[in-house]
Amino acid sequence: MRSVGKRTPSAYATSWAIEYNVAGSLLTSAGGVRETLFHELFHNNDEDHGDWSARRLQADYDAILARCGARSVACLAPYAPNNTMVRGGTYYAFQPNNGNAVHEYAAELAVRYFKEQSEMLSAGVLARRAFKCGPVQNARAWRALVEEFFAGRDLVPGC
Ligand SMILES: [Zn+2]
Repeated sequence: MRSVGKRTPSAYATSWAIEYNVAGSLLTSAGGVRETLFHELFHNNDEDHGDWSARRLQADYDAILARCGARSVACLAPYAPNNTMVRGGTYYAFQPNNGNAVHEYAAELAVRYFKEQSEMLSAGVLARRAFKCGPVQNARAWRALVEEFFAGRDLVPGC
């Protein structure tokens, strides 16, 4: 698809379909395409697992937002699974007025999983702190994601 007069959304997912923007702002490199498609594919899987993210992550997600607010980048940084930012300056995982944004948090968490597993496979070590070794909410979300969608497989060493 293509948006009139803009380059967003880059992609979106619903009911095992992914709409791909042929001029999407996130789709300007192979890495951007891969990351965006992984994010969108996760939405499909999340939906297929009975809206898993809303059932399993909502309480911690709401607590993070209650503590930080949606636009305090410094406060949210330790909780943000990925570095995608939106216009207006917050993490995509915590963007207000975007439906139930726990879905975006979960999809960004899945991208973080993909990035950390890939890095472990290629380099054998992470260049920055593992997501699960951040605040306790990160550890809980990570463990739940790994068990539900990745058969418990996690190449990142314990903290
Ligand atoms: Zn999304």
